[in-house]
Amino acid sequence: MIAKVHSIETFSGVDGPGLRYVLFLQGCNMQCQFCHNADAIPQQGGMVMTVEEIVEDYHHYQNFYRNGGGITLSGGEPLMQAGFVLELFRLLKKEGVHTCIETQGSLFRKTPLMEEIVSLTDLFIVDLKGSDEEKALQMSRCGIQKTLEFLAYLNEQQKKFIITYVLLPTMNDREQDASQLATILSQYDATHMTFKVLPYHRFGTQKWDVVGVPYTLHHIEEPTPLAVHTFLSKIRTYLLKH
Ligand code: SF4
Repeated sequence: MIAKVHSIETFSGVDGPGLRYVLFLQGCNMQCQFCHNADAIPQQGGMVMTVEEIVEDYHHYQNFYRNGGGITLSGGEPLMQAGFVLELFRLLKKEGVHTCIETQGSLFRKTPLMEEIVSLTDLFIVDLKGSDEEKALQMSRCGIQKTLEFLAYLNEQQKKFIITYVLLPTMNDREQDASQLATILSQYDATHMTFKVLPYHRFGTQKWDVVGVPYTLHHIEEPTPLAVHTFLSKIRTYLLKH
């Protein structure tokens, strides 16, 4: 089985617990306005690598990951190459490797293949593209309905998951966004779910040249730590009412 690989990061401290080997897979079914990896969106391109080559490369660095680290699949959207993900995780799980997938969850369906991927994954980091369908469509050209179904499935399976939400001042930081997010979050078992607000940043804007689409968010300010804190406090206040 082969995959189209955008890039590999062998020493990441931000894509899951501990130090991680991060495999960025090529191709995404969304086009988020704030994407900082836009050159991973096109399905064409990327390096072709086999499952065996990735496992061998992971082994090369595995001493880094022994203390609570592991492998993270990111992208692009890793679940676009679900057959590859399944085969890779079957092999790595046999060795007891901690597995994590960063996804937006829109491609999940209750098929045996996807269900087995979920069973082999220790942690999901799921990016929620909006507080409602309309907002998500505006941000990413894709709604959140499928992502919500995926989160419901993870919750039902008692999987660990982190929901992330990229905060863009004036675009998705309304009172209504906080209240709708609280309604969504209130449905999940808090012992398995974590929620993080990620401040929008402008890294990687030049990568949009690869997609051939102009970057549209030059006018959006990066939020201050106080703005992030304030938005989180609003969500917390709404959550207490549930
Ligand atoms: S889902 Fe992720 S990789 Fe795909 S366009 Fe959005 S931010 Fe970029």
